[in-house]
Amino acid sequence: MTNPSKIDIRSLRLEELTARLAEWGEPAYRARQVYEWLWNKGATQISDMTNLSLALRNRLEEHFEIRNVKVQHSQFSKDGTIKNALTLHDGLVVESVMIPTPTRITACVSSQVGCSLGCTFCATARMKRMRNLNPDEIYDQVVAIQKQAQETLGRPLTNIVFMGMGEPLLNYRNTMEAIEKITSPQGLGLSPRRITVSTAGVAKMIRQMADEKVRFKLALSLHSAIDSKRSRLMPINETNTLADLEAALDYWYQQTRSRVTLEYVVWEGVNDGEEDVRALVRFARKFPSKVNLIEYNSVGEDSLRQAHPSAIAAYTEALEAAGITCSFRRSRGRDIDAACGQLANKGEAVVQKTS
Ligand code: SF4
Repeated sequence: MTNPSKIDIRSLRLEELTARLAEWGEPAYRARQVYEWLWNKGATQISDMTNLSLALRNRLEEHFEIRNVKVQHSQFSKDGTIKNALTLHDGLVVESVMIPTPTRITACVSSQVGCSLGCTFCATARMKRMRNLNPDEIYDQVVAIQKQAQETLGRPLTNIVFMGMGEPLLNYRNTMEAIEKITSPQGLGLSPRRITVSTAGVAKMIRQMADEKVRFKLALSLHSAIDSKRSRLMPINETNTLADLEAALDYWYQQTRSRVTLEYVVWEGVNDGEEDVRALVRFARKFPSKVNLIEYNSVGEDSLRQAHPSAIAAYTEALEAAGITCSFRRSRGRDIDAACGQLANKGEAVVQKTS
């Protein structure tokens, strides 16, 4: 557990660290060395920083600590997917997933402990939102998967998706800061084009990201282009309607020139009718987009069922006829409850404080 009298050194920006060390009479390059240990070399304790003098390491240890996320346990799917339960400094637990394919290795990371948005199809929604993750806690999930990718497959991590627990745009600043660290040459140096932030649809923050001209990709968890249905599936739609989202996504494209991915699950008797298909085609044509149809993963007691393949075919045909790129994504890691919407710390330590 953490020592409350010490500061998490990774909560400091480089400028803050430089100012702090300057107060101790240290030159600016020392702060850069410390920063590199923290964000590039993955130091887990201050004593790892062997190019600093012992006196400086001791002084740093008096005031600071590194609050690394720890992999508590991992589950391995027969399809190669790995789900990790990670313990945070305060004992809370979040999950992350490594999804390998022959050409890429993707890290699916969480942005909050639990979630407040209550989507009916999502296991995380059954846990209440406990808190936002700090930038370093998001970053550490990526580092853990990067290590796993090398150890299990001998290949590097290639992509990151913010599709784990929580709504990243309701933890906006920390998500942006984590991405800054992940893409920075002093951090992991990953291209922003390999990062996708997925949102349930927070229109105001989509506009803010567009204003900031971010360079990562955006996905919207859509699931229905009919307001009444979408509000039943995703209560956030009551305050962020399809019209709000349409305007925000059009703005996003105008500012970033980056095509939005619309994530869409088709459920039997819910959104598998002709009017649903027509509504999606209409919505997807309003701004440059592509549609990702996703296989559904039951989250236990819910009454939602994956639609018949003929319903998926109807969507695919209509989208293609309208010139909209569309793909169908099969579930990964179902045998370990690691697929989309299934993250809920079922296996263990159901998001509870350990002390
Ligand atoms: S789908 Fe995403 S936004 Fe909706 S409840 Fe689950 S974690 Fe939250």
